[in-house]
Amino acid sequence: MRIGLAIAAALALAGCSMGGEAEGNRAAVTPPTEGVTDAMIAAAAGGEWLTYGRDYNEQRFSPLTQIDEATVGKLGLAWFADLDTARGQEATPLVHAGVLYVTSAWSKVYAYDAASGALKWSYDPKVPRQTLVRACCDAVNRGVALYGDKVYVGTLDGRLVALNQNDGKVAWSKMAVPDQKNYTITGAPRAAKGLILIGSGGSEYKARGYLAAFDWASGKEVWRFNTVPGDPAKGFDGEGPNAKAMVAAAKTWGGEWWKLGGGGTVWDSIVYDPQTNLVLFGTGNAEPWNPNANDRGQGDALYTGSIVAVDADTGAYRWHFQETPEDRWDYDSNAPIILADIEIGGQQRHVALHAPKNGYFYVLDAKTGAFLSARPFAEMNWSTGIDPTTGKARIAPQARYEQTGEAFIGLPGAIGAHSWQSMSFSPATGLVYIPTNRAAQAYLADKEWKESDIGYQVGLDTGKTAMPADNAIRKSFASQTTGSLVAWDPVKQAAAWTVPYPGPWNGGTLATAGNLVFQGTAKGDFTAYNAKSGGKLWSFPAQTGIVAAPMTYTVAGEQYVAVLVGWGGVWDLVAGTLAGKSGPVRNISRLLVFKLGANGKLPPPPPLSKMVLDPPLVTGKPEQAARGSGLYARYCSVCHGDAAVAGGLVPDLRHSSAIGYPETMKSIVIDGALQHTGMVSFATALRPADAEAIRHYLIKRANEDAKLDARK
Ligand code: CA
Repeated sequence: MRIGLAIAAALALAGCSMGGEAEGNRAAVTPPTEGVTDAMIAAAAGGEWLTYGRDYNEQRFSPLTQIDEATVGKLGLAWFADLDTARGQEATPLVHAGVLYVTSAWSKVYAYDAASGALKWSYDPKVPRQTLVRACCDAVNRGVALYGDKVYVGTLDGRLVALNQNDGKVAWSKMAVPDQKNYTITGAPRAAKGLILIGSGGSEYKARGYLAAFDWASGKEVWRFNTVPGDPAKGFDGEGPNAKAMVAAAKTWGGEWWKLGGGGTVWDSIVYDPQTNLVLFGTGNAEPWNPNANDRGQGDALYTGSIVAVDADTGAYRWHFQETPEDRWDYDSNAPIILADIEIGGQQRHVALHAPKNGYFYVLDAKTGAFLSARPFAEMNWSTGIDPTTGKARIAPQARYEQTGEAFIGLPGAIGAHSWQSMSFSPATGLVYIPTNRAAQAYLADKEWKESDIGYQVGLDTGKTAMPADNAIRKSFASQTTGSLVAWDPVKQAAAWTVPYPGPWNGGTLATAGNLVFQGTAKGDFTAYNAKSGGKLWSFPAQTGIVAAPMTYTVAGEQYVAVLVGWGGVWDLVAGTLAGKSGPVRNISRLLVFKLGANGKLPPPPPLSKMVLDPPLVTGKPEQAARGSGLYARYCSVCHGDAAVAGGLVPDLRHSSAIGYPETMKSIVIDGALQHTGMVSFATALRPADAEAIRHYLIKRANEDAKLDARK
């Protein structure tokens, strides 16, 4: 590894203030010289973890070796902290100067003494619970950035907040999203060159993706790169140095795409590369998913489904590589990007490694974006291969579901073959450790689709493709829905070893110089594997599903491993009968911290209660329930689950007493009686008769499943 060279490059670049020529006409931002600096993040000391993926390379590889393949058997619970948010926990903790900083669901921030677990301070941005209606994927947050003397968090309702590291007091707060109707922030900010970088989620709503950079000290916006062109009639002069890039992108869209935003949101991966002074980031799906829903045609819809590189100082476009052309499957390219220096064909290459939702593993030249190689790391049927010269994926004709008019059972489905759950790269083994999913999804175009003012805007007929009330079909789907930990050789483009899991949606990974790979699972095991062979070395029962990635650090010469646990995220919300594939879904939100020789114990978990379905009698007309099915699928299923079967986070409406009472149902769905819990009024899209139709659908579904349960 050329770590020395990377540092030299970082220091050399630190001396040159501006990358652009005419495009560099912005006020210079002075990076911090005390606290956490660029040089420190570039060469993170062994015991620290200073940014989301540990250092600027985001390899999630720790050089620490106290805990290794020989000693890991003595790993025990050193301390734990209960979190007061019972939602999916996706954050990676950061550690600097003996303090651990982590976020929980609802964008809360906690600072702990990293050795003792004593809480130093906490910060609650008080995100309105109604924000959930524009959050595709639970109230999650993936972590903070540390820079100078500050801690930065993006909140679900779209704020970028700077806190003082020492006391958690707000230094500044800034609305970072264009509007509060379509955008949310769940990703961890990154810091470099005096800038705090953050994008947003929203590509399932009416959002236009962007990456924005803010002055670390003042919060002033410095630059913004829009990932999708706006209305061409207004011209692109407002895009500054990116006018040309927008003109080029506009040629790849049809219809009036800008009216529904276009998508391409930057909701997770943002990587600053000190060797090239570029910021690389992944972009989300084109919006709506169904291309006919905005008549955008069969173009590439740039810059969605891509890795984009911009100048770190100015935000000016440098290159892009599109991984999913003409996306209509929600194949976001937001999975974390890793920078590495590896030998390919006898040559040292500075590369970007990427395993996006679409199932291909890409190796690109990190400076130019040149395509080096791609191979499937997971089973797929949407693409028939890769053009060996351009790297462009060829699309299977049946995958263009809006053209065939048929349902396409796509593999991967929208949760992706791999998504935000971070992969790691070990320079010691040369392997990338990828948490993969095998979960198909039915895509069927809604021919009658119209945009609405609330909820998902994807253009699919999810009512017709909901899971039927048939045990044989459910079992068949369940048996084909799995997950795995894949150790991938990026040079050979082949798996070195694989650990199979019963279900998808397992946690991110950590690789260490102790020849270890750590990963938590959906089933609730926190496990260490031999990084070379995949052999299981150690495991701890966490009592709840784990989706976040672990990290490691030292305090006073002792090595710790920390992981946030707490089942949740989009899979639990939408997967319906498949959500509990790995085991009982139960959210117990905690931070767990381990060290050698410790023997801490968790309190016993609450017993799992089996809920018996006891639904009201079917009283509605069949056509009411049928209409309710479509309305439920469009407006309710994204939180309460496919076919009205919920995961572990939100009320399962088949069990709700409200479905027995038309007035109660109306007061919730139309009048917003439960708004304080996040269940907002849907009055902008639904009428009382619609709420009643949904109620009859829920009664029907509850009765169907009560019969199925009796037959099991
Ligand atoms: Ca998406």
